[in-house]
Amino acid sequence: MNKKSVRDIDVKGKRCLVRVDFNVPMKDGVITDENRINGALPTIKYLIENGAKVILCSHMGKPKGQVNMKYTLKPVADRLSEILGQKVVFATDVIGESADKAVAEVKDGEVVLLENTRFEAGEEKRDEAFCKKLASYCDVFVNDAFGTAHRSHGSTAAIVEYGFVKDAVCGFLIEKELSVMADSLERPVRPFVAVLGGAKVADKLKVISNLLEKCDTLIIGGGMAYTFLKAKGLNVGKSLVDDEQIGYCLDMIKKAESLNKKLYLPVDTIVAKSFPDPIDAEIEVKNVAVEEMPADEMGLDIGEKTQALYADAVKTAKTVIWNGPMGVFENPTLAGGTIAVAKALAETDATTIIGGGDSAAAVAELGFADKMTHISTGGGASLELFEGKVLPGIACLNEKE
Ligand code: AMP
Repeated sequence: MNKKSVRDIDVKGKRCLVRVDFNVPMKDGVITDENRINGALPTIKYLIENGAKVILCSHMGKPKGQVNMKYTLKPVADRLSEILGQKVVFATDVIGESADKAVAEVKDGEVVLLENTRFEAGEEKRDEAFCKKLASYCDVFVNDAFGTAHRSHGSTAAIVEYGFVKDAVCGFLIEKELSVMADSLERPVRPFVAVLGGAKVADKLKVISNLLEKCDTLIIGGGMAYTFLKAKGLNVGKSLVDDEQIGYCLDMIKKAESLNKKLYLPVDTIVAKSFPDPIDAEIEVKNVAVEEMPADEMGLDIGEKTQALYADAVKTAKTVIWNGPMGVFENPTLAGGTIAVAKALAETDATTIIGGGDSAAAVAELGFADKMTHISTGGGASLELFEGKVLPGIACLNEKE
């Protein structure tokens, strides 16, 4: 990565506006998972220790440009204050009187947290006046919100793109995410195996195509496997299929052949009469070969032979990236495929990278988190990185000289 980080500039006495990702899960006003707060701590602590005036901002949930106290960041300010062991001044607005006062009064080594940026309609609309006002709070912009780096919103990119802040650098979280993921994509230690799952092919079109060019083996599971199987002429019963993507799937099968890459599809599958409702309801299932899927049933997980096949493929790898569950893992009866892949990743010595979202949750739930090389904090952002896209929240930052 060639972007400047907080280490490359002098932050002493400077007002640093730090875009963090404090979009933490909450239940009844209580934070249920602090990972995102913890992810931002190295940068916040570094800035405090180096005498910066730290002004934090983040979004939380989807309040759609309206003030909605369900999504207030106040509980995060309180918790952050406990973790840091110092006061975090909470501004009750983003660019209003409260924020003006907090920013005017902040001293070196002190921390302010602004209210949810998405309480302002200008955030998602990239409104110039909003960005200009936010920029007036800082001398330096620090982006450390990897989870929103793929969004081109006011506080994630536009504030710099419009030229309102000149000094724009990344924090340690973005630096780490990029150095692990971008490096593995550009210079993977081979064999390089990519595992893709999840519901829809359409969501991962560009990822599949880009990864086929980079990896040696591409493994497909989850709901999207059935569109591939249908493209190969199989009867997939009532399984999730995106008929519009059949041509694309055929192209990908051909692309893999012409590039001499291995493309793994399920050889057997777990079928049931219908989708579980509720999702964790008890369900009666069968393991069948993909050539023998009953017309009135649907595939909801990879079968046992496929689990073994995929686990073996993972074992041969030196680099593995994984995004998307192998089946409806929210249901214990349909979690076998996802568990098998997670276990194979946990057991290999290869560099293992989990691309956030459901796969990260599954790995954490199974207790394998500390066995992985890297678990990304951004599901959407890491997918866009796997697609080969440049993320706006990173592209806008200053290059190293
Ligand atoms: P995604 O957001 O695209 O990563 O998809 C994740 C979702 O895909 C999870 O909620 C899974 O339950 C769902 N999923 C995985 N396999 C299947 C399948 N075979 N049929 C329907 N949904 C699936």
